[in-house]
Amino acid sequence: MPALSDVPPSHPRYASLMTREKVVEGVERGITGRNGLIAQGRGEAFDYLIGERTTAAAAEAERAAAAMLLLAERPVLSVNGNAAALVPGEMVSLAKRIGAPLEVNIFYRTEERVRRIADHLRSFGAEEVFGEEPDAAIPGLDHARAKATRGGIFDADVVFVPLEDGDRCEALVRMGKRVITVDLNPLSRTARTSTVTIVDNVVRALPNLISLVEEMAGWDGADLAGILEAYDNTAILRRSVEEVITHLARSFSPLDELSPP
Ligand code: ATP
Ligand code: MG
Repeated sequence: MPALSDVPPSHPRYASLMTREKVVEGVERGITGRNGLIAQGRGEAFDYLIGERTTAAAAEAERAAAAMLLLAERPVLSVNGNAAALVPGEMVSLAKRIGAPLEVNIFYRTEERVRRIADHLRSFGAEEVFGEEPDAAIPGLDHARAKATRGGIFDADVVFVPLEDGDRCEALVRMGKRVITVDLNPLSRTARTSTVTIVDNVVRALPNLISLVEEMAGWDGADLAGILEAYDNTAILRRSVEEVITHLARSFSPLDELSPP
């Protein structure tokens, strides 16, 4: 197999291949669990179905997410093994722009991997990283999955949890938190439970969020609140599914032409 550096940027699947390679590297460096590879594969499949671009529905969810993060009193950005592999610098940059701490929060917890992710984030300039010394439990989850930190996710009013598991997402919402997620599967429990669901690849969503937060930082609270009032997550999920259908319908015609008469 050719090395990834041999793949020219003009390759039609370049972005997808590079993203995949970053997750593989994450596993090799001990920051991403092996299950992260499966999660990435599932994400890629859904990304293919929306045409590997930020849809209008995703852009609207990203705008609402930016408003929610700017309005939050105690926002926290949660980082798992896949986010740490794919968008470490962007997570740190977003955290700085909204004045939020980061918290390492992984599904298959080992103390070693939590420490590696925290170190990885610090190497990108993160100042406040929680997660290495959890001192609280999220109600309704089993022991290892429930671990959280006071001053971090446990006390947050808004939690940004890209690629979160459905159960934990539900548990955070039950605690009364507003949850923003990034999940390419608009049908997942995470997607349906979250307050704001961004159906976009995390590698596109993060740069978009950073620009939006920059653009909206000086806005009036009332204008930001207006965006949230008008926002309807169920409608966004429905539109995300429609984007898949439209994209598939459009892609079918060239295939038709290729097929033998
Ligand atoms: P749930 O428990 O919410 O139903 P799941 O069990 O279907 O979720 P997991 O494998 O636990 O899914 O989590 C992976 C989720 O993250 C999938 O829905 C996948 O589409 C999404 N995902 C994976 N990689 C990315 C990515 N790079 N960007 C955005 N979403 C992604
Ligand atoms: Mg799951």
